[in-house]
Amino acid sequence: MRIDVLTIFPDYLAPLELSLVGKARQSGLLDLAVHDLRAWTTDRHRTVDDTPFGGGAGMVMRPDVWGTALDAVLGADPADDGGTVLLVPSPAGEVFTQRTAEELAGARRLVLACGRYEGIDARVAEHYATRPGVTVREVSIGDYVLNGGEVAALVVVEAVARLLPGVVGNPESLVEESHGAAGLLEYPVYTKPPAWRDLPVPEVLTSGHHAKVTRWRRDRALERTAARRPDLLERLTPEALDREDRRVLAGLGWYVGPGGPRRAQVRRAVPDDAVALAALAAVTFPLACPPSLGSEAIAAHVATQLDVGSFTRFLTDPGRVVHVAADEDTGALLGYTMVVLGSPAPGHEDGEDVAELSKCYVHPDVHGGGLAGRLVAAATTAAAQHGARQLWLGTNAGNRRARRFYERCGFAVVGRRTYDVGGVANDDVVMSTPVLAP
Ligand code: SAM
Repeated sequence: MRIDVLTIFPDYLAPLELSLVGKARQSGLLDLAVHDLRAWTTDRHRTVDDTPFGGGAGMVMRPDVWGTALDAVLGADPADDGGTVLLVPSPAGEVFTQRTAEELAGARRLVLACGRYEGIDARVAEHYATRPGVTVREVSIGDYVLNGGEVAALVVVEAVARLLPGVVGNPESLVEESHGAAGLLEYPVYTKPPAWRDLPVPEVLTSGHHAKVTRWRRDRALERTAARRPDLLERLTPEALDREDRRVLAGLGWYVGPGGPRRAQVRRAVPDDAVALAALAAVTFPLACPPSLGSEAIAAHVATQLDVGSFTRFLTDPGRVVHVAADEDTGALLGYTMVVLGSPAPGHEDGEDVAELSKCYVHPDVHGGGLAGRLVAAATTAAAQHGARQLWLGTNAGNRRARRFYERCGFAVVGRRTYDVGGVANDDVVMSTPVLAP
């Protein structure tokens, strides 16, 4: 790749002689030249700026000087293949990201025009944008204002050069980096000594267990990204996240919806939630029923047991605790649980310290997104706070997925019962879990 940097402070670019970029230049992987803009001035004072039209503070860099300089630098290029990018650093430009660096690494030639003062006369970018074979990009390296474009040029050159084949010794080291293909910030890294100032290296990293190390790093990357750059998490697709990722994200207050990770709140339901809860129940209940159960029986159950009136009663009944999971931004309800306090399990008469998890449903769009576990945890905590020492539930005997989920939540099968849905008797397994005192 060929890179030309034009500046009134060529010495500012001296660091480009150092380190990996310096080595890449020496080995011929990178052909880089720094030009003094003042070489193209014609007056005695080597003037590059003048006062702004329209008035105001500061000076503006003259288009005629820049034009002569850029014509000279670009003009020496015989190729007209569109592979030349004229980069104009500017705090008002598009934000320079790793994606920009990747795009620029594919160019044949970069020309960087470093502005000073109030910047370069706007006609320069306008003019070269019409020149065949040249693409103009104004780029900002962040939301702050520097005195000149030289620091931005150093940033751009280093970020692009390290992506050129052969510049970074081990290309593997580019794979898992922050802002890479995984879309996550990198996990924390450690080296010798294993203990330093009472701070040990996380044990897993010295275990030699490759799969565990990989998982630990992935978990830390998810945690870091959630804490520092939630905007990056929101850009991930659901396909990019496995079950363990979802479990980790759920623990951090996120769920995975059709649009990717979002933040969800699990809270006690209030009477105002009755309408939305009835609508959610109408969607979720039929999906949990066995195929053998007719649609009429299901509809009858939804209409009489899960209607707005029923939910209004549940939400005002001191013997019931309803929790909802709601999207933090939209408030949309995504799932709910209901605990019935003092409800004995089938075959047990005394229900004083027993509670029933009578409902636990999550919208099908967000199944497997980690919300059900959070809802069950909230329901279990609430049961404990109300004095329960055992929490039980009935789930359709044919619903293996549900049974496995409850097992992961700590429930074990303790018996069977029949459950009436719209006048049809259903075979349920009864599962139970001890509840620890709060
Ligand atoms: N008046 C300009 C504005 O408010 O947009 C700022 C000009 S700045 C003082 C002078 C030069 O520094 C710019 O022409 C540009 O080359 C460079 N510069 C300043 N901040 C930058 C940033 N965040 N990214 C890239 N270049 C920047």
